[in-house]
Amino acid sequence: MFKGKSIAVKPLEAGLVELCFDREGLAINKLDLATMQELGQAVAAAAATPGLRGVLVTSAKEAFIVGADITEFLDMFALSEAEMNRIFVRSNSAINALEDLPVPTVCAISGLALGGGLEVALGGDLRVMANTAQVGFPEVKLGLFPGFGGTVRSPRVASVQVAIDWIAGGAPSKAAAAQAAGIVDEVVAPEAVRARAIELLQEAVAGKIDWKARRAAKLAPVKIGAEQAKAFATAKEKLAKGARHQPAALAAVELMEGSVLKARDEALSLETAAFAKICHTQAASSLVQIFLNDQLLKKKAKEHARNARPVRKAAVLGAGIMGGGIAYTSAVRGTPVLMKDIQEAQLALGVSEAKKLLGKQVASGKLAQDKADKVLASIQPQLTYDGIDQVDIVVEAVVESQKVKHLVLSEVEKLARPDAVIASNTSSLRIDGLSTPLVRPENFVGMHFFNPVPLMPLVEVIRGAKSSDVAVSTVVGYATSMGKTPIVVKDGPGFLVNRILTPYMLAFIQLVEEGADFVKIDQVMEQFGWPMGPAYLNDVIGMDTGTHVFSIIADGFPQRIQRKSRDALHLMVEGKRLGQKTRLGFYKYETDPAGKPKKSVAEDTHQLLKAVQPNGTRDFSAQEITDRLMLAMIAEAAWCLEEGVVATPAELDMSLLMGLGLPQYLGGALKYADWLGLEHVVKLSDRYGKLAPYYVVPKSLREQAAKGQRYY
Ligand code: NAD
Repeated sequence: MFKGKSIAVKPLEAGLVELCFDREGLAINKLDLATMQELGQAVAAAAATPGLRGVLVTSAKEAFIVGADITEFLDMFALSEAEMNRIFVRSNSAINALEDLPVPTVCAISGLALGGGLEVALGGDLRVMANTAQVGFPEVKLGLFPGFGGTVRSPRVASVQVAIDWIAGGAPSKAAAAQAAGIVDEVVAPEAVRARAIELLQEAVAGKIDWKARRAAKLAPVKIGAEQAKAFATAKEKLAKGARHQPAALAAVELMEGSVLKARDEALSLETAAFAKICHTQAASSLVQIFLNDQLLKKKAKEHARNARPVRKAAVLGAGIMGGGIAYTSAVRGTPVLMKDIQEAQLALGVSEAKKLLGKQVASGKLAQDKADKVLASIQPQLTYDGIDQVDIVVEAVVESQKVKHLVLSEVEKLARPDAVIASNTSSLRIDGLSTPLVRPENFVGMHFFNPVPLMPLVEVIRGAKSSDVAVSTVVGYATSMGKTPIVVKDGPGFLVNRILTPYMLAFIQLVEEGADFVKIDQVMEQFGWPMGPAYLNDVIGMDTGTHVFSIIADGFPQRIQRKSRDALHLMVEGKRLGQKTRLGFYKYETDPAGKPKKSVAEDTHQLLKAVQPNGTRDFSAQEITDRLMLAMIAEAAWCLEEGVVATPAELDMSLLMGLGLPQYLGGALKYADWLGLEHVVKLSDRYGKLAPYYVVPKSLREQAAKGQRYY
């Protein structure tokens, strides 16, 4: 009857017709623009069937429809609102046509139906769902809300409260919850979905189900009483705070508050107009980019996995903060690990830390006790190198001293298998400097974890000049097996993330020295979206650690990242104000009577800083503070890309998001540069470049700006 690239329409018995999503050449069904167009043709073909009595909507794949085609989004976002409107109206008309068929329709949701997939399903009169399937509206995670009628149909099919919770929350729901919410009508075993959907369709055809009344309710305004009004008010209040940088959830609630009062077609017009607006927000552009970047990282990790040697057993040298965390993460993800230290007490600490973390997982029900016991038993604490010749990879995490590391690395190289990969978790030493005493430097790679290891997703995999491809791939594979996101970077001072952080921190120090209040700087940057401002971040990193790392990195780039011999951070270290760990840094850290940690401005910090403020204090606008700090970061990111420290803007930006907690709505330093416009970045660089060389952007950025190009 109809056969397209994504949809087929075929007759069943007794006037019933099946409209089946079955995307050619793909394992899944997704709603790209072509499929939406095809849906209109498919519905028309079904409607034209002589003697038509009912339509069954199915999928020939495991999932029903996984959602819209996200790879099309950024091109779409580049269109004007009017152009987008035209596309959305066309897509909506296809679902409307399904909804308006003169016969009953039943959707058989055999597997995942997310986003647009659920919106199509809501176009039918009834929905049967497999008990293994999930449905939901994850759009807010991409800075969006449903734009194919989801905001219109979900409050009508289920309730205002369900529509708010599902759309603003973005979490997928399992079958029982979906049925309880009223989004689906019946839940059955996966193998029974189709048969039950046909039965329901026959019942509807026979008039045993009043599908006309159900449909009428979907087309009419929603009855709004006190309960619904309260649901809107509560949600708006709750969502207002996050809306500054990620407005989609609040915008959806505000949209629905108005659109539920209208009949379907008018409500859809409101949705279309609001959706076009949300597509043009910074958050939507960034979050979609992050999704695409994440896909790229996964693809790269897979390529490495093909080239990697298997890691069945690992060893960690050093059972300190990092070594303990690495051993635990390796073990919990299934790779047994030897944990070697020179101090018994440190081994005991490493084991007790692992025990504590496993205990938490058991208490929260995530891990069974016997599994936890097995994980713990797979961490083997020891003072000797016994068994080191059995491991596929050794991760060195001893103290940060080139001398000690040289000794430890050459010692372990002699005892390990010749094909074993040796990785160092150094945070500031060059990989090529560490490899000098090694006989097989090709097996040596950097593996830079972030603290705390079990929580931080990023691992910088540092390729030294002599590191072999297979050694790099093996480290990438091991990091992936630990549930981490590895990003390969070139060896150099500070590698990638700490290097980019350094000018940002120096720009902060410089602002303070010009007289800016560190408290205001923190407030401004936190409002801008950072989880913590730079002064607070220094306290968390630890003033001694930070100042040491920033100096090493600054020394590595003497032309551009100079640091004064005595700045605000040096003052802090001299005063033994090391930050959180000494309970005093820029801020002071106390415990309130209830035992909760409390941070407040230390009375004497401003006084102390006067020693580095030759011109006293003055006020700086929020704009200047963000411009200067973020420009320093963008410029360094651009230099890193130009120098090939990292291969792509995507990997660079993802590293910053994961390693530094850069606000998601920015999408990364380079994505933010795109958003500002590279010409604007050049203007800022011209303005502030006179103050310090780290504000100066590289030639490549200027050239791109001149040509009107972007990073993405
Ligand atoms: P730590 O001081 O907590 O632990 C170092 C451990 O190494 C100690 O237990 C010590 O006894 C042990 N050790 C010393 N000599 C040894 C030897 N010869 N053989 C085996 N063990 C030995 O230090 P940490 O914070 O865990 O840092 C370890 C490494 O990780 C350093 O290179 C550091 O730069 C790097 N790093 C640290 C962080 C961080 O935030 N702490 C982040 C990333 C990377």
